[in-house]
Amino acid sequence: MGKARESERLARALRGAGLGALTLLLGLWALSGAGGGRRYESGIDFDGREDESAGGSYVPFGAVRTEGTRRPLRPLEMCSWETALEGSQFDDEVESDGFPTRYERLVWTDHKPLEDVTCPVCGMQKQTVRFVGSDLREEGKCSHCGSYNRLRQLADIILPEASRLTGHKLQALQDLVHTNLRILNTQCQGVLHTVLKRAPGYVCSEYINSDIPAGQVIEHIRHEDLQRTTFKDEVFDLVVSTDLMSRIPRPYQGFHELRRILRPGGAHIFTVPFSPGDYHDQIRAVVEDGKLVHWALPPIYQGDHLHPKGVLMFTIFGREMADKLCMLGYNTTVHHLHNAAHGIIGDNAWVVSTVKNTEHP
Ligand SMILES: [Zn+2]
Repeated sequence: MGKARESERLARALRGAGLGALTLLLGLWALSGAGGGRRYESGIDFDGREDESAGGSYVPFGAVRTEGTRRPLRPLEMCSWETALEGSQFDDEVESDGFPTRYERLVWTDHKPLEDVTCPVCGMQKQTVRFVGSDLREEGKCSHCGSYNRLRQLADIILPEASRLTGHKLQALQDLVHTNLRILNTQCQGVLHTVLKRAPGYVCSEYINSDIPAGQVIEHIRHEDLQRTTFKDEVFDLVVSTDLMSRIPRPYQGFHELRRILRPGGAHIFTVPFSPGDYHDQIRAVVEDGKLVHWALPPIYQGDHLHPKGVLMFTIFGREMADKLCMLGYNTTVHHLHNAAHGIIGDNAWVVSTVKNTEHP
């Protein structure tokens, strides 16, 4: 995508997004702590301005706050969305058909399963994968391991990163149990947990509730707030999270904290609700003065095994996420995937890989 075209699209989106811009400003106000909300001794402040010389595009900047000092984040000029988009990994079907490909038509229109799928989670070949609902992202279970489309997307991105970190070519997520990678999974149940828990360096954590001291283990689940964990610096090679960063009130504080506990060159691979057509994150709720505040949009709750009523979604991420992750000191790639041979179909298969660099902050 050309820079000029992208700038024009961005400017158009901003012109048409008065409410979105207001929401963003209010959200940033809350994030900065100006509303008297919970203050961290250290943390991330993001701010931004409209750049008239660049057609009114929004330019974020920010700082790391540590014990009363502020250090600027990596300048935005060193980051680019175009670089992130180079992560698109499409099979030939997208090239020849565009969306929907013959595979989406097969499951939507013909109501047939995908055949001859190799599952990148368990490594089983010649699997038949059925999609029973319309939300392809959350459908299509592998009959062997139970992984569904989104988990296979994650596996397709975790595998090259894990291969890079170990120096060995790994074919399936299952192979990670034979490595010494230090892995943090931000979920203690589900298919990824079941597959990875036999790895010697595996740790899982969840946010249980605010009454529990961080780091305490209750029924094999370690309670951690990802905005401020009890893990030591640089103890993990790999962090995996599935749609979790949208559920924490200050997601960039969380990304900053995960960078602290990753070793240099380590990676956080994750999925989030992502809207590539929007530059700005959609901030749906914040915590202010210790109270939950919903913005103009109605709350969305996602299912969760620890919280039967569901967990509130605070943020749906836009392209600014890629900019901000880069500014935080990650080499960021937003992958857009389509790999029918691995049971990965649909036009909303997005996985983000972030590798901790040592330059900033
Ligand atoms: Zn499988």
